[in-house]
Amino acid sequence: IASEMESTRDELREMRGKVQTSEAEVVKLHAELNAAASQARHDALTGVLNRKGLDEAMHRELAVVHRKEAPLCVALLDIDNFKKLNDGKGHEAGDAALQHLVSVTRECMRAQDTLARYGGEEFVILMPDTVLANGIEAMQRLQRALTRRYFLAGGEQILITFSAGVAQFEQGESAESAIKRADQAMYLAKRAGKNRVLGA
Ligand code: GH3
Ligand code: MG
Ligand code: MG
Repeated sequence: IASEMESTRDELREMRGKVQTSEAEVVKLHAELNAAASQARHDALTGVLNRKGLDEAMHRELAVVHRKEAPLCVALLDIDNFKKLNDGKGHEAGDAALQHLVSVTRECMRAQDTLARYGGEEFVILMPDTVLANGIEAMQRLQRALTRRYFLAGGEQILITFSAGVAQFEQGESAESAIKRADQAMYLAKRAGKNRVLGA
């Protein structure tokens, strides 16, 4: 009996050890899963949300808009003459310019706003509790901030400008439709001479 008890005790000890190991593995897998999920929603170059992350954020915000009937604005901004900067200063300078724009934008934004990279040099900003006139103002504030905070490429000061379109969500409007309106306004801002913000 004594020897049987001894071996049972050994088995128990061994099992406890195995449980601890698998618990540690679960914790590690959880962390890895969270990191992968976050990576899937963020842009690697700038750290802001990517298209997928934006889609999710927009659907969350839209649910609030429909429930509370609070205004929501979406701005689409596109850097002016970005190809020229890339061609003239190199692709790495272009990458750094995108990071610069993101850091200036983050300083200007309110905590509840969402910034996402929509495509190459196009960004979307979601502004909850914001009517159209205030959404336009916010983008113009960002334009002014960029004139104060020059982008430095190889010691040279470069002024980054953008053209933007801003749309306020209409009653029951889909995310796709509001972004499309903002995009059309942005296109008109380009046609009108760039470096300007237009409301949709
Ligand atoms: P416009 O004023 O009309 O917007 O002209 P643009 O030159 O800004 O626009 P265009 O669409 O002609 O060029 C966009 C350029 O952005 C081309 C592409 O190589 C560059 N680009 C896209 N993604 C990246 C990126 O991640 N890094 C860098 N460095 N360049 C990028
Ligand atoms: Mg573009
Ligand atoms: Mg552009």
